[in-house]
Amino acid sequence: MSLFEDIGGIITGIWTTWKHIFRRPVTIQYPEEKRQPAPRYRARIILTRDPDGGERCVACHLCSAACPVDCISMQAGERENGRRYATWFRINFSRCIFCGLCAEACPTMAIQMTPDYEICQRDIMNLLYEKEDLLVDHCGKEPDYNFYHHAGIGVSQPRGAGAGEQRPVDVRGLMP
Ligand code: SF4
Ligand code: SF4
Repeated sequence: MSLFEDIGGIITGIWTTWKHIFRRPVTIQYPEEKRQPAPRYRARIILTRDPDGGERCVACHLCSAACPVDCISMQAGERENGRRYATWFRINFSRCIFCGLCAEACPTMAIQMTPDYEICQRDIMNLLYEKEDLLVDHCGKEPDYNFYHHAGIGVSQPRGAGAGEQRPVDVRGLMP
């Protein structure tokens, strides 16, 4: 390597340093300063309610079946009106990898991901969330969806008469 190449390398290095020295720093002083995560960021999980205020979760176990790390467990119960619910519902956040598969699998939109990433704990046992820690008093991202009026026991109209619903196919009419 020639002397001129050495000097050129040094000058390039100094120029790069000077180029950045007066720029605004990109460091964020967390926790005093907080970055706004993307709207679809996946962090703390919640159990939402339908617009009538009822619990959306029908304890169908689909979320726990979809969970790749088996961190969701629950027990199903049934109210006097036939409506199913989870008598207890538990998520072990020390195992959760925030993949969002539980929310994708949920037919009632009960389980939803939120951008709340501040759930670190010193005691790992505090990452065990029970139903009372998960259940919120709002509908989350689906403010109008009411499973019971779409497909649950609250459906009173005949099949195919619901909003946006197609008439059932007469399979006998398909016979040759
Ligand atoms: S986000 Fe993924 S790992 Fe966490 S509870 Fe849901 S399915 Fe399981
Ligand atoms: S959260 Fe959704 S998928 Fe999980 S048990 Fe309740 S209704 Fe089923």
